[in-house]
Amino acid sequence: MVNIEADINKTTLKVCSRCIYDERVASISFDEEGVCNYCHQLEQLKKDYGTGEKKGEEEFLKIVEQIKEDGKGKKYDCIIGVSGGTDSSYMLYIAKKHGLRPLAVHYDNTWNSAIATENLRKVLTALDIDLYTHVIDNKESNDIFRSFFYADVAELEASTDLALAEVMYRVAWKFGVKYVLEGHSFITEGITPVGRNYFDGKYIQSIHKKFGRVPMKTYPLMTFSRFMFWTAFAKIKKIRPFWYIDYNKEEARAFLEKEYDWTYYGGHHLENRIAAYFQSIYISEKFNTTFRNNTLAALVRNGKMSREEAWREYVAPPKIEKDLVTYFKKRLGLSDEEYERVMKREPKSWTEYPTYKKRFERLEPLFKILAHANLVPMSFYLKYCFPMEKDEN
Ligand SMILES: [Zn+2]
Repeated sequence: MVNIEADINKTTLKVCSRCIYDERVASISFDEEGVCNYCHQLEQLKKDYGTGEKKGEEEFLKIVEQIKEDGKGKKYDCIIGVSGGTDSSYMLYIAKKHGLRPLAVHYDNTWNSAIATENLRKVLTALDIDLYTHVIDNKESNDIFRSFFYADVAELEASTDLALAEVMYRVAWKFGVKYVLEGHSFITEGITPVGRNYFDGKYIQSIHKKFGRVPMKTYPLMTFSRFMFWTAFAKIKKIRPFWYIDYNKEEARAFLEKEYDWTYYGGHHLENRIAAYFQSIYISEKFNTTFRNNTLAALVRNGKMSREEAWREYVAPPKIEKDLVTYFKKRLGLSDEEYERVMKREPKSWTEYPTYKKRFERLEPLFKILAHANLVPMSFYLKYCFPMEKDEN
């Protein structure tokens, strides 16, 4: 980020009076008090779910009972996607604490940091939870990341999130499990505005088709028909416990460190090397932006950081890890010149490539039903099923 006033009270940008989202955030609007629509959206979700309150806690306990009931006679009663990061590690603990019998599922994009792998092993061993890992061929993994790099889009590592979702469904289906628990928390992360970080199976497939060199064989692609199969036919439910119960990321981290000798890796999603490269280098250097304002805005909304402090951190230049750039170039087989050439190229938006977005919008009434039945995440419904107000990235 260059040349943004570090004092939130002096910037000429219009900034939300409650969080730190500014006018550059996609589809943002402000009320008379200067509060942004994203703050209102979160407020509404908190009310609807009763997050951290009696209503939410009771609702979650009801879900837990249902999971136990539906899981009778099966080896596992729920699936938990794990990365070695804070949210998913803590999710494992929460599941066990409530007497659930989870199977942990990991999608290994072959860029894991050693810390993440070690964290995963420690927590799973201590809690006595089985692990199912899907490993993609590393040449294929690199090829997909390279395709996104050449496509000049912001969603460099989107293939990872979608692959984990697909693998969790496959494993759930294989073991006859009806529930997938996710460690997402809108309280600590917010809901990413739709202008950012869009992804679906068509998007990944079309970019890989255009820029890829090796065939897609071991990548678990979630096509539209698979997505519909898992949600509307197999009726595998996605539950996000932290939407119901109180979740404090800082406390969770301290708990994991104390109980499982777990190690912190230094930031949101930094447990994976490509995610770290994406968050700390790619997005700021090529797109002159950062996703850090999601987490920072959440800290402000939760009263854990002042707006002034969060803004200063948000606009401060990111620390560039030289090793990470070298590692990225080496893994993708990019020469220094080639890397610089692509990095300097004009960025493109996901809207310039084929996606399922229009189809999701057409099927909005269907997804509304699926979202209320917990068959697709509510955040998917809110983010993907409505037209964007303005096309920006
Ligand atoms: Zn706001």
